[in-house]
Amino acid sequence: MSNTEQTLSIIKPDAVERNLDNEIKQIFIKNGFNIFKEKKIQIEKSEAEKFYKVHETKPFYSDLCSYLSSGPIVAMILEKKNAVADNRKLMGATNPKDAEEGTIRKKYGISIDKNSVHGSDSVENAKIEIDFFFKD
Ligand code: UDP
Ligand code: MG
Repeated sequence: MSNTEQTLSIIKPDAVERNLDNEIKQIFIKNGFNIFKEKKIQIEKSEAEKFYKVHETKPFYSDLCSYLSSGPIVAMILEKKNAVADNRKLMGATNPKDAEEGTIRKKYGISIDKNSVHGSDSVENAKIEIDFFFKD
């Protein structure tokens, strides 16, 4: 399908640690996403700092990068029509307390930092983030 779009999703350490990765993958599949590629990896803090560079001036930047590199994560290329926006909707608000019923963060998120999933916020950033994890 020519209007298929790709986005980057990450199942974050808090969710992988609780063995929720298969359950969360099933939610993506049930909601019409194809998991085009995936890998389970642990990244260095220096790599997390590159990934989250857009947040480097934020007070939570260092803790965020320590957290993302604290344990295994599952990085995935998800695809469907409107993948970027539809994934953001399925994830729910950044703070699980504010996330709508039926969203991944509402169901699994522990706190604003341990919110179980990452998703690209624009088509442009999706390309950059996909390259970051899957370039080679
Ligand atoms: N974050 C945090 N404290 C905050 C805001 C954000 O720890 O006050 C973390 C949270 O894990 C979030 C990530 O930083 O998912 C990136 O923040 P962003 O605003 O881009 O949220 P997202 O796009 O993940 O919803
Ligand atoms: Mg973001």
